[in-house]
Amino acid sequence: MRGKSPEAASPNVPVPLNDLSRSLGASRGALIAALTRVIDSGWLVHGPELAAFESELGAYVGVDHVIGVASGTDALELALRAVVPSTRPVVVTAANCGGYTTTAARRAGLTVRYADVDGASHLLTPDTVRPVLDERVGVVVVTHLYGRAADVGAIRTLCDPLGIAVLEDCAQALGAARPEGRVGSLADIAAFSFYPTKNLGALGDAGAVATASAPLADKVRRLRQYGWAGKYRIEEDGGRNSRMDELQAAVLRERLARLDGWNARRRAIVGRYCAAASARVHVLPAEGAGHVAHLAVAVADDRPALADHLAAAGIRTDVHYPVADHRQPAFEAEYRDVSLPTTERLAASVLSLPLFPELTDLEVDRVCRALETY
Ligand SMILES: *Cc1c(COP(=O)(O)O)cnc(C)c1O
Repeated sequence: MRGKSPEAASPNVPVPLNDLSRSLGASRGALIAALTRVIDSGWLVHGPELAAFESELGAYVGVDHVIGVASGTDALELALRAVVPSTRPVVVTAANCGGYTTTAARRAGLTVRYADVDGASHLLTPDTVRPVLDERVGVVVVTHLYGRAADVGAIRTLCDPLGIAVLEDCAQALGAARPEGRVGSLADIAAFSFYPTKNLGALGDAGAVATASAPLADKVRRLRQYGWAGKYRIEEDGGRNSRMDELQAAVLRERLARLDGWNARRRAIVGRYCAAASARVHVLPAEGAGHVAHLAVAVADDRPALADHLAAAGIRTDVHYPVADHRQPAFEAEYRDVSLPTTERLAASVLSLPLFPELTDLEVDRVCRALETY
């Protein structure tokens, strides 16, 4: 899989930010076998593959209940609908995580209030969350950004006595762990995405909700299918159709077994980038079990100069994320008075480097050389 590809060493061939065809090509036979199994079964939604994937993911994460849904954003929305009481309709979250929680919360009819993030970890901490909490806040959504497990326990210590739920957004961090357990098992409820570029990707869209609470799991299970308690009987208002189909579940089962190996390779690549970074650029470290290196993120005062330097060396880059949620054109008017200094500074200085498990060593060398010479 990490075979030599002679073109990759040539400065004329760009080093891609991501290339899904390599992973798909390497497991083509196994994927086709999984798809064939579903086709031959004649069972296309809510069948044995989904049930098996839900239980296998639950065992991996360390929670009793997993509910497969159609996307990560749906997982966030249904989890919010399940945990947020109508008397406390405010969702607190970070504004540097791509806007998914904001989209989900607005769809659920909730109000979003932003907390700033910590300048070193780029994550929410009790210190950044505390100033925006009050009795209208129903939930704090903690995103394990870039693959780094946030200290959910510390945020729960703050929120639990105030009656505020905590939701983990694990879309970028499946497999990351704190000493207390894997992400997805640390709060009241959690959301996962299996969008193709995530560390565990489907062949299209899919997502999941995880929780240790049977009542919350029941609620989400109803919400994902029209609010049905059983066939044709709506017992939960606010339901929708958000099913994970059997084809995606079968693919995810096949790929879950390989996740830890992929995550280790991702971490090793980020380790090389960190070691190569020059004095003018910092690469966020991704070491140990607490990080699954979803993205390799450089931080530079002069981002355009770094991006130009890398582009000249044939290194593709991107920005995750260039526009903070409270500055998104669709709703910035509501947040004109909100200032999040750290979030805004980071949005102007982060730059994502090529990172996926099938990057060749020669490609990693090229990125390292470009970082060294910046
Ligand atoms: C990708 C992502 C989502 C949304 O997942 P979709 O499956 O694309 O809807 C949510 N949160 C974060 C942090 C993500 O990276």
